Amino acid sequence: MTRSERRIATSVLVIGSGGSALRAAIELAERGVDVLAVSKRRKADAHTTLAAGGINAALATVDAEDTWQQHAADTLQEGYLLGDPGIVRTVTEGAARGIADLERYGMPFAREADGRISQRFFGAHTWRRTAFAGDYTGLEIQRTLVNRADQLEVPILDTVYVTRLLASDNVVFGAYGFDVVDGTRYIIHADAVILAAGGHTRIWRRTSSRRDENTGDGFGLAVDAGARLRDMELVQFHPSGLLAPEDAAGTLVSEAARGEGGILRNGLGERFMSRYDPERMELSTRDRVALAAYTEIREGRGTPDGGVWLDVSHLPRETIMNRLPRVHQTLLELQMLDITRTPMEVAPTAHYTMGGVRVRPEDSGTDVEGLYAIGEAASGLHGANRLGGNSLIELLVYGRIAAEAAAEYSAGLGAQQRSANALTEAAEEVDRILSGTGQENVRPLQRALRNLMTDHAGVVRDEAGLRAGLSRLAEIEAAVPSIGVHPDIASYQDLAHVFDLLASMVAARATLEGALERRETRGAHNRSDYPDLDDSLQVNLVWSGPGRIAQEAVAPIPEEIAALMHDVSSAGKLVE
Ligand SMILES: Cc1cc2nc3c(=O)[nH]c(=O)nc-3n(C[C@H](O)[C@H](O)[C@H](O)COP(=O)(O)OP(=O)(O)OC[C@H]3O[C@@H](n4cnc5c(N)ncnc54)[C@H](O)[C@@H]3O)c2cc1C
Repeated sequence: MTRSERRIATSVLVIGSGGSALRAAIELAERGVDVLAVSKRRKADAHTTLAAGGINAALATVDAEDTWQQHAADTLQEGYLLGDPGIVRTVTEGAARGIADLERYGMPFAREADGRISQRFFGAHTWRRTAFAGDYTGLEIQRTLVNRADQLEVPILDTVYVTRLLASDNVVFGAYGFDVVDGTRYIIHADAVILAAGGHTRIWRRTSSRRDENTGDGFGLAVDAGARLRDMELVQFHPSGLLAPEDAAGTLVSEAARGEGGILRNGLGERFMSRYDPERMELSTRDRVALAAYTEIREGRGTPDGGVWLDVSHLPRETIMNRLPRVHQTLLELQMLDITRTPMEVAPTAHYTMGGVRVRPEDSGTDVEGLYAIGEAASGLHGANRLGGNSLIELLVYGRIAAEAAAEYSAGLGAQQRSANALTEAAEEVDRILSGTGQENVRPLQRALRNLMTDHAGVVRDEAGLRAGLSRLAEIEAAVPSIGVHPDIASYQDLAHVFDLLASMVAARATLEGALERRETRGAHNRSDYPDLDDSLQVNLVWSGPGRIAQEAVAPIPEEIAALMHDVSSAGKLVE
């Protein structure tokens, strides 16, 4: 097969152009290190742009008592003791610097009259420590980082799909991919690789991710290269995702809708939260509201389309227009529905991957030498339940740290071992898929995968369902060799979808097997057959391939942090 091919060499390759990837690339460029960022999606439109509510750091600009130690304690507590205390410390202690970096790059944070950065409550935080820019914080962060990367002339190829990491004897030496527009192949040699490819929540039917993002690519790439995944069963479901239209199912209705006084009702018109949390009602925690809505739907008290009603129509119109403008606009755009008059139909939606690639706390390095993972692709900060606002700060802190480590690693590398075999295998894999003439289409298989994850690994799981999910997954895996690919001159998206599916299947298997192994209910992981928390399972589950899961002890929490841990109410505090 004749291929149009480009060969590039760089010191550090960053895979992704979301918040974590750009922060890493900026650090490398500021240090004068040769860097290249590649991503399958345009840099201005990475998933990070969707983040709404804010970014956490104990700046104490509003609540003077706040400290990074309290932030660490809240994060570990809310994570049901599964977070890595080293990672939690690094992020919370480094958070102020992360915000200062953003300020230095020109981030337009909301400020108090005297110029201090404003901070608001967000979820189960003890103090107000969430900095923000309107209800579009992620969009502003992405813009700010893109601008800074442009100033530094960081090369970003944002139509390149990475299909494989190039590794030999557990050492990474680059990546292989193709251009999604014209099919040009890319062989990128690099001393070190930083994986910032996001999570896997698009593999559920209802998800707050958009089409073709968060398909678990980072997990497939990492495992194939020899890295391991941690706690993949821990997935955060947001209580309110839209049911329709189908191609936008799961689009988030901000929790601000409940925060402002929105009421949840089931298909029978009952205000069902009174059965689950009569005190806090709709202002209960995210995992409880998601579980309540799920239970109503599952037990046959949902709306005809399988959701529940979220109603703000009793609120004054000005409140809706001033406090919920994005929700109002989204519903008009997607459903032509006026929320000042009509309730919204919502259901729990897959929102955030709390597990991910297993990394070291000191440098976000993986089991593969020279390979680092950051952002939603990595794991260790959130444990079994993510505190709203913590993921954005993680991007800033570990983006910088992994870049420093990769720069040092690259500088210390005398010679690099490469493997012609690894390269040939990567190229032949793409050739093989492109020459597929079978009868299977990739899109229905992706849909089948989303259905099985929704049916068997949603908000509530049990052994029989998870085993059934694994059988259905095996059927999808068996259908892959019969996929026919039809890339046309306009786009190689069809090929990209096949690689999305391959990675999604790895992520799905790790999630199902982890969920089966975690025989307890903890945080976002609900097992109806094991409804209690099991102290002996206060461990991380580390997955290294089909059927291979090991329990790993969580490092002890330092005493000064443990002393600050307490139950924090999230009533009245928005969480996203
Ligand atoms: C609606 C919504 C609201 C949110 N609100 C908040 C909030 O208020 N506060 C908060 O802290 N968090 C929030 N989050 C979560 C937060 O936005 C994400 O966790 C975070 O932005 C992830 O950033 P990232 O850099 O890890 O990856 P992403 O931004 O997901 O970027 C991943 C990158 O990898 C690239 N990529 C993936 N696969 C490949 C491949 N095979 N080849 C090449 N490139 C690839 C993509 O193109 C993309 O550039 C929210 C999320 C959503 C959906």
